[in-house]
Amino acid sequence: MSQKIRGVKGTRDVLPLDTYVKDDDPWVRVGHFHRVEQSARDLFPLYGYREARTPILERTELFVRGIGEVTDIVGKEMYTFDDRGDSVTMRPENTASLVRAYVEHNLQQQEPETKWWYLGPMFRRERQQRGRYRQFTQIGIEAFGNPGPRIDAEQIEMLDRWLRTLEIPFGMHLNTLGDGTCRPRYREALQAYLRSRADELCEECRKRTETNPIRVLDCKNPKCQEVAAGAPSMEAFLCEPCKAHFAGVQDSLQRLGVKYVVDPKLVRGLDYYTRTTYEAIATSGLGAQSTVAGGGRYDGLVKELGGPDVPGIGFAAGVERLALLVAQQGREAVVRPVVFIAPLGDAEAAKADQLAQELRAAGLSAEVSFRKANPGNQLKRADALGARFALVLGDAELKEGRAKLKELKSGAQHEVALAGFAAEVRRLLGGSP
Ligand code: ATP
Ligand code: MG
Repeated sequence: MSQKIRGVKGTRDVLPLDTYVKDDDPWVRVGHFHRVEQSARDLFPLYGYREARTPILERTELFVRGIGEVTDIVGKEMYTFDDRGDSVTMRPENTASLVRAYVEHNLQQQEPETKWWYLGPMFRRERQQRGRYRQFTQIGIEAFGNPGPRIDAEQIEMLDRWLRTLEIPFGMHLNTLGDGTCRPRYREALQAYLRSRADELCEECRKRTETNPIRVLDCKNPKCQEVAAGAPSMEAFLCEPCKAHFAGVQDSLQRLGVKYVVDPKLVRGLDYYTRTTYEAIATSGLGAQSTVAGGGRYDGLVKELGGPDVPGIGFAAGVERLALLVAQQGREAVVRPVVFIAPLGDAEAAKADQLAQELRAAGLSAEVSFRKANPGNQLKRADALGARFALVLGDAELKEGRAKLKELKSGAQHEVALAGFAAEVRRLLGGSP
């Protein structure tokens, strides 16, 4: 036998059955992902978001300019390669790509406000750990052209509703990062403070003090957190318009009945955020990587990427983390066969194939047995598949054109005609599919 080929480190297979991934919980199946994804597809359009799909490959320059050179992502996590003279990168996130598309297609001239949602794989070469992969999936939204603050609250309310639909235990955290007027003053004050306590910071944060001091507030190192606890807070530095904006967001949230906490230590990893930032953090079940969704306003980004001066706000949620939480509740979205058909001989096999075809054409899921087994084993297989009904087709059934349809859960037997079989099954199902 030749040697097995293993998947790439930091990537994972999501299958319809349990798989074991090192450092991860073994039981996340594709049905858990479906539940997360389908609920988003159902909900987001109710708020006017329409799906947008952009390529995985983008010019490297897009992320360097969009995310910022001194961020962890651009500094060390991107999958970048030379494509015969062009430097291209596999997207580490989707906001910069959607902004590129928005600018490239002149969306601002076509509609005053644009609301997009997306779903797809992102790539970051991070240290592998539970809840952190090198290929992972994000579902997110972006709204362009609306300065807020009511839309900020609308997005947070939508995220809140989505996570509550998924029955996930979480808290909503809210903060403001100020804007180009007030943040530089805050940055300076913070930097001065951090320099004065540099010897207590981790090495990374000593660097961040010079390049991206706000990120120090986010460091997980306990010593850095102690230093961060005494840091000046953004609130004291906010300019009047930013103060009013933040108050407006909170007023709207209260009117909409959304629960949240103001969290002055909430900062985001990417450079482009201004004013409102928010995160949904799981309160149990995820360990250290507990942020399931993060978002915020990025009023300067569209312009930074060559577009008009149009404000934007959005969030991105980690599908793997959400799927893990859904798996922990044992709530899976799976399609089970409505009817399992087991033919006993060759003549019955042809009839079984035909009946299955008829059911599927009527929109009912059906599975035919392709192996020879006794009726008892066939019923066991139907049960394992989670089928609603099982039909064992023998010589007698074929001759009479009638058969007994066994309802697996209750054990009830329903006598049905094979002519017009799909209609018979529909009738038995009543209103329920
Ligand atoms: P974190 O601090 O959790 O790494 P981040 O600030 O890097 O988050 P964003 O870039 O805002 O996160 O991404 C939004 C969400 O996408 C995160 O809250 C998380 O749920 C998910 N996510 C980010 N990176 C990964 C990863 N490497 N593997 C799995 N999910 C991820
Ligand atoms: Mg990260």
